[in-house]
Amino acid sequence: MWGVVPATMWRAWTPPAADNTILLALRPFLARDGEHVVVVEPGVGARWAEKWLAIYGIERDASVEACLAALGLAPEDVTHVVASHCHWDHIGAQVVERGGELVPLFPNARHLAPRVEIEVAKTPGHARAASYRADDVVPIERAGLLEAYEGDVELLPGLVAHVLGGHSDGVAVITFDEQGAEPAIFWSDVVPTTHHVQPAYIMAYDLDVVRSFEQRSEWLERAARGGWTGLYYHDVDHAFAKLGSDGRRYRSEPLG
Ligand SMILES: [Zn+2]
Repeated sequence: MWGVVPATMWRAWTPPAADNTILLALRPFLARDGEHVVVVEPGVGARWAEKWLAIYGIERDASVEACLAALGLAPEDVTHVVASHCHWDHIGAQVVERGGELVPLFPNARHLAPRVEIEVAKTPGHARAASYRADDVVPIERAGLLEAYEGDVELLPGLVAHVLGGHSDGVAVITFDEQGAEPAIFWSDVVPTTHHVQPAYIMAYDLDVVRSFEQRSEWLERAARGGWTGLYYHDVDHAFAKLGSDGRRYRSEPLG
């Protein structure tokens, strides 16, 4: 998660366990405007054999169904599921196994994902093949619920996807621009935690480091200048933080 950042620095921000792993959140976000119920990445899901739960240390302390139920919502109420990219830790939960068959968890939702990410997920042999499962997208496609997006596109009024690449071939950030409210940005793995807010803090995992650096430099500056609120998928402690700058370095100001 920290690439070239010295361990003496990142150990203080994300303390490692004895096996050198760090704890990360897998946090879905919900957006509502009175008409639409939008899940921004449903999470890792339950389709995991014991072996893989152990290898990745996956602890499932809540499901996206339980989180929705706590808000009085059922999976059937969700109108849109938005993915920034198709890594299994972000979209695994959108497909469930029922009666031996793989089916969409959200049967009435349009599922939106970057075109190149859908293609990579369905094509084995990619350098990061271990991060994709065709089963996370094929059952959605079979149900006629999968829609590809490209470039910069307004998915719903005020909700815009921007395909950037870098971390993966087609990773996107999602901006929320509600009238009268300050803009917010779902960073996905472009800025995975509130500690990753300097442009050079790039994961070793990223496919194209130079592209990541360029995109992160541009978007962090834009967000800091605008005082945007960031939505953090992998940050254990903070779901939301405003981005600021002291002129030399960016600074996260957690909101919750
Ligand atoms: Zn991730």
